[in-house]
Amino acid sequence: MARPGVAKIDVDALIVGGGPAGLTAAIYLGRFRRSLALVDAGQSRLGLIPITHNHPGFPDGVKGRVLWARMKTQAEHYGAVVRTGAIESIHHQAKMFVCDLDGTEIRARFVVLATGVADRPPAAHFAEAVKKALIRLCPICDAYEVIDKQIGVISIGERGAHEAIFLRDYSPHVTLLHAGKPAELNAKARKMLAAAGIGLVEAEIVSVNLEGDRTVELALADGVRLGFDTVYSALGMDNRTGLAVALGAKTNEAGCLLVDEHQKTSVDGLYAVGDVVRGLNQISIAEAEAAIAATDIHNRLRA
Ligand SMILES: Cc1cc2nc3c(=O)[nH]c(=O)nc-3n(C[C@H](O)[C@H](O)[C@H](O)COP(=O)(O)OP(=O)(O)OC[C@H]3O[C@@H](n4cnc5c(N)ncnc54)[C@H](O)[C@@H]3O)c2cc1C
Repeated sequence: MARPGVAKIDVDALIVGGGPAGLTAAIYLGRFRRSLALVDAGQSRLGLIPITHNHPGFPDGVKGRVLWARMKTQAEHYGAVVRTGAIESIHHQAKMFVCDLDGTEIRARFVVLATGVADRPPAAHFAEAVKKALIRLCPICDAYEVIDKQIGVISIGERGAHEAIFLRDYSPHVTLLHAGKPAELNAKARKMLAAAGIGLVEAEIVSVNLEGDRTVELALADGVRLGFDTVYSALGMDNRTGLAVALGAKTNEAGCLLVDEHQKTSVDGLYAVGDVVRGLNQISIAEAEAAIAATDIHNRLRA
C-alpha cells in the first residue's frame, strides 16, 4: 500500500541505470509492450568515450555521447521515460520490488540492474585526459588506435603487466608504470615483462600534465618526467553491485554479479546486465545481455 500523499508507479520492470545496457533493456521491453520505469544517475561510461570504433554499424566510429543520446531517443520512441536520479535502496515486499525516487514509490515485478562500474582514477585531471583520449581505460576497446605509439600503462600489481603485454602486440614502445609497492608486482610478472621487451618504471606519479591534445607527461616523485602519446590506466574499477548485494545477490571473488544464461541473479526476479556483471566490459556485450534479460522477463510475464 502506498503511503497517503506519496505518488506511486506500478510497472512490469524497473530498470536501474541508463547506459547501453539499461537503454537496450528499455527498447526491448517497450517493444514487448511492457510497462517500465528507467532511473539513471547519468554516469554512463559512454560519456567518457571520445569515439568508439568497434561498435558494429558505425564504420567511421561514433562518439560515446552521440550513441548514448541515440539509444535514449530510441528507448523514448517505445514509451520509456528516463527518470534522472539515483536509486538508493530496493526492498522486496509481497513479490514486488519497491523503491523510492524523490518521493515517488516505484513498484515492479522485475528489476534489471544495469548500474555499470566506476573506474578508479589514476590522478588529477583524469576526466579531461580521458576525454582527449590521452588517458585510456580499455585496450580491448581502442588499442588499434595506438599502433606504434609511445604507450604508458599505470597500475598497481599484476593487472597492468597483463595489459602491457596485450598492448605489446600493437606497439614496441610500451612502459609499465608501477605505482604500487615493489612486492605487489611478483617475479613471474616481472619476468614476462622483460621477455616481452616492456620497460618498467617503479615510482609514485605525483601529477599528470596534458600537452595540448597530443601528449601526456607524468611527473614522478623523484622529479623525473616521462612523456607518452597515450597512457592506459589499469587501476581497475569498482562494480556498482550495492543494490543487488543488499537484496541477497551473489557475486564472484572479483565483486561482479553472478548471473545465469538468462542474466538472472541468485535473487528471483532480479536480473543484472552490462559491466556490473562478470565478463567482458563492452557496449555490444551490455546490449546483448539486456536483450536476453528483457526477453526472459517478457516470457515470464506471458506465462
Ligand atoms: C574511456 C572508455 C572507453 C571505452 N571504449 C569502448 C569502446 O570503444 N567499445 C566498447 O564496446 N566499450 C567501450 N568502453 C566500455 C563501455 O563504455 C561499457 O562497457 C558500457 O558503457 C557498459 O554499459 P552499462 O550500461 O553496463 O554501464 P554504464 O554505461 O556505465 O551505465 C551505467 C549507468 O547506471 C547509472 N547508475 C549507477 N547506479 C545507479 C543507481 N543506483 N541509480 C540509478 N542509476 C544508476 C550510472 O549513472 C550510469 O549512467 C569504454 C569505456 C571507457 C570508460
